[in-house]
Amino acid sequence: MHSYLTHLECTNCGATYAADERHTLCPACAKVLYPRYDLRAAGKALTREALARRPFTLWRYHEVLPVRDPANVVTLGEGGTPLLPLARFGAAVGVPGLMAKDEGLNPTGSFKARGLCMAISRAKELGIAAVAIPSAGNAASAMAAYAARAGLAAYVFMPQDTPPIMKGECAAYGARVYLVDGLINDAGKIVREHAAARGWFDVSTLKEPYRVEGKKTMGYEIAEQLGWELPEVIVYPTGGGTGIVGMWKAFAEMEALGLIGPARPKMVCVQSDGCAPIVRAFERGEDHAPLWPGAHTLAPGIRVPVAVGDYLILGAIRESGGTALTVSDDEILTTTREVARLEGLYPSPEAAATFAATRALRERGFLTGDERVVAFSTGAGLKHTELLRLDLPVLDPNDPAVGERIA
Ligand SMILES: *Cc1c(COP(=O)(O)O)cnc(C)c1O
Ligand SMILES: [Zn+2]
Repeated sequence: MHSYLTHLECTNCGATYAADERHTLCPACAKVLYPRYDLRAAGKALTREALARRPFTLWRYHEVLPVRDPANVVTLGEGGTPLLPLARFGAAVGVPGLMAKDEGLNPTGSFKARGLCMAISRAKELGIAAVAIPSAGNAASAMAAYAARAGLAAYVFMPQDTPPIMKGECAAYGARVYLVDGLINDAGKIVREHAAARGWFDVSTLKEPYRVEGKKTMGYEIAEQLGWELPEVIVYPTGGGTGIVGMWKAFAEMEALGLIGPARPKMVCVQSDGCAPIVRAFERGEDHAPLWPGAHTLAPGIRVPVAVGDYLILGAIRESGGTALTVSDDEILTTTREVARLEGLYPSPEAAATFAATRALRERGFLTGDERVVAFSTGAGLKHTELLRLDLPVLDPNDPAVGERIA
């Protein structure tokens, strides 16, 4: 295992920094830093043939991951998720080439595991003892799990109405859990104001430079799973946007590595009609997305009123010829049931939003129905007990008429 990490580079002002120092946002302009690699040298080792012999976890791409010493890898078996054809739901919405990347199978039930395994591994490598995160729920549970495994102290700050399972997970993993009267950005304010004095490293989305490196592996995986051809369209439920910008970074790296050509998927950002800062900025032709006041949606992962990487998300959508659209909570709930019933896949509400958006994209004619479309099923519906409304019949095994009660 060898990392070809060379330095950190600011995505805005281009300033460069040593990779083996602790950094958050760019010290010069407060924008997002990206890890950079010696891709020429990495391309000699990271070939299609070499990959074919490696285990299917995200660590198979170690040349372009930031962890230098294998002893610092903190893993629970993340990545390597299936790309499932959705033949029945795809036919129902007129997109027969629809596939789901089932990220709900990751440790802690969402793709946040990809980012947080990387952040915690690098925290360990850089000698950090305590980490803190503002989170809508899944990032906190993933961070708490990896911090537990690495033996780091973890502090999590999340909205009061975060789904109960996610609070319970964090507590089980031994994190200090604080509920915040507000949303993720309010939780972020607490972390920002207290991190330095308390000695916490702030692991917020895109403020920490390595989560994006874990998330970019989704881009490598779908290329590999499709025989090194990217799909025509990627549909992605966007909160902080780490996944969308991570995959966009991955595609550029993969071309430099000689793994793919210049063709790119159209990147589609899905948000909720109750919290759509990126969609609004996209429609207005702006590259900054101001805070969305009064954000509300039952999909916590996309209830993100403001994104530090807004310019990167909007850049990826526009450069790719993609688009951005919203769905409603009602569409999320009906689509959750429909995908579960037709496919045996129980999506989280954010994932259901991508499937609902796929239907809308076909109806609007953005999709012709001939494309291969990868919709990101970013989390498992299993985590969302708060959304259950069950009214099931109870049978008495000694009731002689029990058979008549079974429809
Ligand atoms: C965090 C989260 C999202 C949004 O992901 P970003 O990469 O931050 O945009 C979507 N779905 C789920 C299940 C999440 O936990
Ligand atoms: Zn900068």
